[in-house]
Amino acid sequence: NALVYISSGTGEKREYTYRELHEEVNAFAGALKELGVSRGDRVVMYMPMMAEAVFAMLACVRLGAIHSFVFRGCAVGYLAHRIDDAEPKVVVTADYDMSGADAIPCKKFVDAGLDAARFAPGHVIVCRRGSGGSMPMTGGRDLDYADLRERYIGCEIPVEWVESSHPIYILHTSGTTGSPRLVQRDTGGHAVALTTSMRHVFAAKPGETMFAASGASDIGWVVGHSFIVYGPLLCGMASVVYEGLPARADPGVWWRIVEEYGVNTMLTSPTAIRALKKHGFEHMSGHDTSSLRNLFLAGEPPDKRTSLRVSESLGVAVRDTYWQTETGWPILRERSPEPEDEPLEAASFGFPCPGFDVRTVDRESGEEVPAGESGVLAIGPPLPPGCADAVRSNERFIKTYFSDFPRGLYSTFDWARRDEMGRYIVLGRANDVIKTPGQSFGTREIEEAINDHENVEEAAVVEGVASAITAYVVLDDGDTVENEASRTAVEREVKDAVERKVGTAARPDEVRFVSDLPRTRSGKMLHRCIRAIAAGREPGDISTIKNPEALEAMRSARPPMIPEKAEVIEHKGGKE
Ligand code: AMP
Repeated sequence: NALVYISSGTGEKREYTYRELHEEVNAFAGALKELGVSRGDRVVMYMPMMAEAVFAMLACVRLGAIHSFVFRGCAVGYLAHRIDDAEPKVVVTADYDMSGADAIPCKKFVDAGLDAARFAPGHVIVCRRGSGGSMPMTGGRDLDYADLRERYIGCEIPVEWVESSHPIYILHTSGTTGSPRLVQRDTGGHAVALTTSMRHVFAAKPGETMFAASGASDIGWVVGHSFIVYGPLLCGMASVVYEGLPARADPGVWWRIVEEYGVNTMLTSPTAIRALKKHGFEHMSGHDTSSLRNLFLAGEPPDKRTSLRVSESLGVAVRDTYWQTETGWPILRERSPEPEDEPLEAASFGFPCPGFDVRTVDRESGEEVPAGESGVLAIGPPLPPGCADAVRSNERFIKTYFSDFPRGLYSTFDWARRDEMGRYIVLGRANDVIKTPGQSFGTREIEEAINDHENVEEAAVVEGVASAITAYVVLDDGDTVENEASRTAVEREVKDAVERKVGTAARPDEVRFVSDLPRTRSGKMLHRCIRAIAAGREPGDISTIKNPEALEAMRSARPPMIPEKAEVIEHKGGKE
């Protein structure tokens, strides 16, 4: 197989061999070509996790066109902006997204986006899910993919050969440091990078099966682009495209998929694992998951306690990978994905992946800091294949990523520490670093200490008013602590734990209990917004936020306390 498509929402299960995938890609390419798409043209995609999304992406590549995914659930204005940005010949969408409890109308949303956009693409292709509901179609513009497919299935559409530097796609980052940034990737370097990473980062082999499961691994995010579509297919593997949320109705669904399709390699996010954890760990051991060699995580610092429990329940190694939309593939990974190698402690220290010249540097001078000290994670030139290219303006690209430090160092805008063995741990965004007189802490350092508390589900730590260290804590039962006495007890224990494990300087000035923390739609904690709220400012660009109500709740989670701290320290470094 090349593709296994499973949807919990529609109940569909489809399998495609490489031959069949080739036919489907040609059919989609035929449809796009009929609508005037050719080399260099943009195609905007607003698609759920469905096989047709893969066909459409690969059809663009076949024609030398550039796909631009827009994340589902964004505001109408955001979609309109992306359409105006890309000026696409065609927009591809579906009638509904069926991943959750309710079907979400994608096409209706695209209609609203097109109404708000200045640029009008020639056509909208709609892939129907068979939901049977009425679907307003604009005559002359909107086309049903089933009709187009019928015309082109069985046709061979000639490949448009392109230079290695020809753009393959554009995509936005998740916006954890500010507004989402536009990233463009080339065709040749991307193929080299992903082929390399399948083999040397994920230890995956042709003929095996890869399952990048929901969370950040949505097809519309970089994780999905790289490891649902391009990576496994370049490697000759079968890739599982699964539409659904394991937390709904059936928390064991992932492990059933692993059993049924003999999945060897999985990739998911700490957020998705956290959601699974809510249903206990029993559902992980009731299936035959012996085919699975590795469960990789990406996108956020993993929660050590949960990773260990998952690893024990499944009997596989849970391994962290650290990377960015800009790089397209892992920068850091745990030493070796081969199971016979000694497992590393679940502290997520990682070695640089081949091609990445990683350093931790002083945020002011750009000089390398010694092992054991923290600094900004930077990458020495040249970046390896697959990393982002300048979009439109070289000047802007250089200014954004290469101007913070001398000697052409690329800034990841992350804060990290190297140990004596040359392994790195990523401690959070450099902008979110908590500065106390004499010492700086990455958000993760303090948050991990809090997360170790048995009643804590998750925590976010920020510098609030007058540099007060403020910890927002979600408790395990998902609710705020009602009882004042137990609240005071947990508050004290949390503060003591930080003092014991991290140091007196890191002790939170205040602990506020909340029922949720703001995250991007790809599952990343929005520290910059939490920091703004804690400091009584507006949260800034929230176009990628998943749960804006969490921000609202935070505003009312007790008025900020102003501690008696002599020194107010300004944030420096990184870009917002
Ligand atoms: P994005 O903007 O979506 O590309 O997010 C990339 C950012 O996510 C990185 O720069 C890190 O801040 C964070 N990140 C990704 N993976 C990890 C990880 N394994 N551990 C810690 N942070 C991570």
